[in-house]
Amino acid sequence: MPFVDHNKNIIEVNHVFFSYGTNTVLIDVNLAIHRGDYLGIIGPNGAGKTTLFKIMLGLLTPKSGTVKLFGVDIRNFQDHLKVAYVPQKASNFDVNFPITVKEVVAMGRYAKKGLFHNLQAEDNKIIRNSLEQVKMQEYANVLIGELSGGEVQRVFIARALAGQPEVVFLDEPTAGIDQKSQDDFYGLLKELNQKMGLTLVLISHDIERLTKEVMHIACLDHNLVCHNSPEEFLRDSDSLNLDGQKVKVITHHHYN
Ligand code: ADP
Repeated sequence: MPFVDHNKNIIEVNHVFFSYGTNTVLIDVNLAIHRGDYLGIIGPNGAGKTTLFKIMLGLLTPKSGTVKLFGVDIRNFQDHLKVAYVPQKASNFDVNFPITVKEVVAMGRYAKKGLFHNLQAEDNKIIRNSLEQVKMQEYANVLIGELSGGEVQRVFIARALAGQPEVVFLDEPTAGIDQKSQDDFYGLLKELNQKMGLTLVLISHDIERLTKEVMHIACLDHNLVCHNSPEEFLRDSDSLNLDGQKVKVITHHHYN
């Protein structure tokens, strides 16, 4: 098992409330994510999972409550590149844009160093390493539009890795990807978590899969319904719809 430092909170969400207008989406959410953790977030559609992600990334501000990243209040947090975000595959990235795999990954480097900063040999090495980590080095000069969905997701991971983050957020990363590519993708995530000690936070509807992959599961349904290990989650959940449309968990544990 990889090392999880339970004394180091990478992210702390304390008593967070959030609404879009009159639509209250998050109610008193408390969540601590430890260094080296691999956390899966599940919950019904509209439960507030993506909203919680955006709050943890500093893209939305809670109506009340606080968020800390690496021990620093998110309002004062400067080192945003410690935190990477891999959006859904069907995100607004135009795969028909004529850009190579290597150029996409270089974006993760420019994000770190500034757009007008020339990339140095060291940066190119990091880009190469990032592609190797996701086993896409042979595709460096291929146009992104020529890749399969699973390959595109691997490139997005490489782009995130090129910024040398400590935590990576992934929102439904395997939606619409074939089974074999999903298997490879989860294998890659496990490697990044276990070998590199990268902290991963993943939203997925695939509860069955998550229980086999992650270290901890958080169930969100506007508030945090549970936060525990997959074993505890399976033992305590009285009814699960594995399509993820309905998640009902009767007990409420905190693992810390
Ligand atoms: P989930 O990721 O669990 O499906 P979301 O966080 O995307 O849930 O959405 C939670 C609720 O907030 C839903 O009712 C959704 O319609 C609403 N919502 C999400 N984004 C916006 C937005 N930008 N403006 C208004 N309402 C939104």
